[in-house]
Amino acid sequence: MGYDTAMLPTAPVIPTRFSEVLGQPKAKEMLSRAMASAKMSHAYLFRGPAGVGKKTMAHAFAATINCAAPVSHEACGSCPSCQKFRSGNHPDFQMIAPEGASIKIQQIRELKKSLAFPPFEARYRVILLADAHTMRRETANSLLKTLEEPPANTVLILTADEASGVLPTIVSRCQVIPFFALPQQAVTQTLMAEAEITSEAAATLAGIAEGSLGRARLLRDKELLPLRQEIVTTLLDLPPDGPETAETVFALAEEAASLKEELPELLDLLRTWYRDLLLAGPTQPLNQDLAFTWETARTRWPEPELFARLDRIDRAKRELARNCNRALVCEVLFFGLL
Ligand SMILES: [Zn+2]
Repeated sequence: MGYDTAMLPTAPVIPTRFSEVLGQPKAKEMLSRAMASAKMSHAYLFRGPAGVGKKTMAHAFAATINCAAPVSHEACGSCPSCQKFRSGNHPDFQMIAPEGASIKIQQIRELKKSLAFPPFEARYRVILLADAHTMRRETANSLLKTLEEPPANTVLILTADEASGVLPTIVSRCQVIPFFALPQQAVTQTLMAEAEITSEAAATLAGIAEGSLGRARLLRDKELLPLRQEIVTTLLDLPPDGPETAETVFALAEEAASLKEELPELLDLLRTWYRDLLLAGPTQPLNQDLAFTWETARTRWPEPELFARLDRIDRAKRELARNCNRALVCEVLFFGLL
């Protein structure tokens, strides 16, 4: 029984050791302490921002508690159990991820059926419920009893994004392990190790992703930064009532709308540019590569105008969340940003 290792995106190997997981010293310390005291919880909730290594840590933790020869609470990486984890092919590690937008009740029913059987070979069978915050109430309720009294030798690990609501009934049944944004330097270095990319581009991506390696990878792979630059500079150069303004805005809106699922990510990016314009004090601007636009933009829009533009972006995001027509949302927004 394999599992989809694409969900564990750390390259080039699938981590089986804590030292291979980027950052997160607090989580590592809490999990190591649990192993040392032999007081493992049977349900954990890994909670923190998206893209900072929660699923990767769950996999490393599963490998570590099953390792035949761990050294100071680190998996050896070479015993038969570690080898199976490393190949993404351990029969007693199961990952349940959202099908579409959420984890469905049918997935939980199937999980409960499979838990009626003992583990194949592992000391601890580990079930990873990825993005557990996507479960609807009915689905979450169907999991409660399993969370409270899982079968012997079974550990459940739920991951959830910090900002999203997880039902209190779930939280109270789990030991919560907090995850945090990663240091920018660590994200920059990882991006450079994974792909052909200049240190300047990697640092910009890492800054904008605000400590989320997953988000930085998405921005890199979907090439959202060039589109962000095109939108910012085009809108800045357009006279609001010029003869070609409407045509240009429609074309830009069409290009943005063609992103589909990544469109909210683009709007978040645009948001960071306005945030940079409003910054005062020692906070670092995120879009360092767009520094050449700041003076013109600040001259053109006084502060209240910049706040109004942030509001328009937020409204567009809410409309997208309600499945409004993407092209129309972009057109209205871009005219509002002129
Ligand atoms: Zn081992």
